[in-house]
Amino acid sequence: MTKLRPTEEVADLARRGLAACRVPQLIVDEQWTVVLVSEGACRLFGRSREQMEGTALESLVSSLDVFAGCGHRTCPPEGCFRQLDLKLRNATTAVELHCERFRDAAGHPFLNLVLYDAGELATRDAMRTARISKLGLLNQVSEALYGAQLSLPQVLESVLIAMTAGQGLRFNRAFLLLVDERTRTLRGEIAIGPSSREEADRIWRDLADQPTDLYEMMTSYDLSLKETDVAVNNIVRNLKVDLAEDDHVLIQAMHSRRVLHVSEKDSGPGLDAVRHWLGVGRFAVAPLATRRGSIGVLIADNAISGLEITELDLEFLQLFANQSANAIESSRLTEELARKVLDLRKAQQKQKEDQQTLLRMERLSVMGETSAIVAHELRNPLVAIGGFARTLLRNLTEDDPNRQFAQIITEEVGRLERIIHDLLDFIRPQKMMRRNLPPDQIVQEIARKMHLTLEHASVALDLDLKAGDVEVNCHPGEIQQVLQNLTLNAIQAQPDGGRIRISSRVLEGGVLIQVADRGPGLAKDVAEKMFSPFFTTKTAGSGLGLTICVQIIRAHGGVLRGENLPEGGACFSFILPRPKPEGENGE
Ligand code: ADP
Repeated sequence: MTKLRPTEEVADLARRGLAACRVPQLIVDEQWTVVLVSEGACRLFGRSREQMEGTALESLVSSLDVFAGCGHRTCPPEGCFRQLDLKLRNATTAVELHCERFRDAAGHPFLNLVLYDAGELATRDAMRTARISKLGLLNQVSEALYGAQLSLPQVLESVLIAMTAGQGLRFNRAFLLLVDERTRTLRGEIAIGPSSREEADRIWRDLADQPTDLYEMMTSYDLSLKETDVAVNNIVRNLKVDLAEDDHVLIQAMHSRRVLHVSEKDSGPGLDAVRHWLGVGRFAVAPLATRRGSIGVLIADNAISGLEITELDLEFLQLFANQSANAIESSRLTEELARKVLDLRKAQQKQKEDQQTLLRMERLSVMGETSAIVAHELRNPLVAIGGFARTLLRNLTEDDPNRQFAQIITEEVGRLERIIHDLLDFIRPQKMMRRNLPPDQIVQEIARKMHLTLEHASVALDLDLKAGDVEVNCHPGEIQQVLQNLTLNAIQAQPDGGRIRISSRVLEGGVLIQVADRGPGLAKDVAEKMFSPFFTTKTAGSGLGLTICVQIIRAHGGVLRGENLPEGGACFSFILPRPKPEGENGE
């Protein structure tokens, strides 16, 4: 339990307490004599305690009339407010007075007069009005930042607009720096503000035609205004501080979570560099802090007007920075979420496609097995039919009417045999015996093999082989098959003779092989379907040549492409991979 102090000690304490009080206060007795005065009263009247205590109140105030109707016995228990003219040293001044009555231990009435300086009251009123109007602004700012569904760049822009707009915080220039986690730096992002007095005058004139509402300004930023912000944006691009520089003024301001007012006489690590970047000595730095941590800083200055940055400016910059930080953070999170949703959708779509491919592949594999059986079953009877038809043809005389039918049977059986041959090639299980060898060798081999076919078709073959000794990892038989199919197609595309050019070139990951002809090229509807099995535009075609090529190249980890050359003709190309370094080859 607290021990009660003796009455004299409490009385002394109360007297000293009142004497030290900075609020002007007087205690007067029933005879209107001043009994006690506070420090604030001495300062207000410009007199010492000795000069005031014991004097008549009338000597301090113009008239006691204000107390008419109120006094030691009549003043209401809750006290009352009066206007009072004081006689000060050189002048009289009006004050607001709060009057309360009380009694001492013996029951004598006293009055406690608390005086409020009217000048100070006016300043306080002005501050209060300014604060209320700025609070209204903050409300508009928050509506714009959270309610207008702005994208991240728009949020950043509108933050700076609010800082510089006449309807906003009224700074001349504003710079936004954000933490870049990737480079571990605090980096300049964007800035707004004129670079000279003339430019400022022009912008401020233009702004007179702009919407007067801050919300509207923040949400309908005219991009053309940005042209005037070139100089400040050049500055902001140079603003970069390593996050590890703990004592740098900007890093400290960011972590301090309190707005920093820098003046010309201040000094500290990094301050001169920042002054140099901005070209001014005085500026304010407000930290952008969210619940998850510091995300950057806002720098504001009055470089053009040279106006002082007031306490009120700083107070609002701080509130505004808090609001902006949260808006930037939530906009970032929203964008991240949108990105993740998109990734998820893509992954879902891919999964769906993969499932469909798997189903199709299963079906194709069943079809492949069935086709292999059917093809084998058909081959023998076909050979027999072909043999009989050819014998029949030989035995029929030139003018025999059945000779034409025997001829058709021979040709059609020949076509069916080719289809079955290609089909079995396509279905045959792939032997993955790969070797490292120069692809130019394979090309030369196929050129030799096809020499007679080419000559017969009057097609010249140009070889432009630049791979030299560079080796690729491939199955030579399969690549020969690809080159043979492509060369045959190229020959067939030039029925009246022509030219084919096979070239090789070393690229970073492998060797590019191209087979180009001077035929009519690929018609649009053909190019779309030519890789599908059984698609053919030829009367005797199987439609499997390119399908086999695609399958082989894909098994080698490449892609087969067919395109038209600008000078005419079709060109098929694929890349064969270089051998993997020792130990990485999976075979
Ligand atoms: P096929 O040769 O049995 O028709 P492919 O799968 O090899 O089967 O070719 C499919 C189709 O692609 C051909 O019928 C043809 O229309 C087209 N094509 C292939 N190569 C060429 C080429 N070099 N020039 C023009 N068209 C081509």
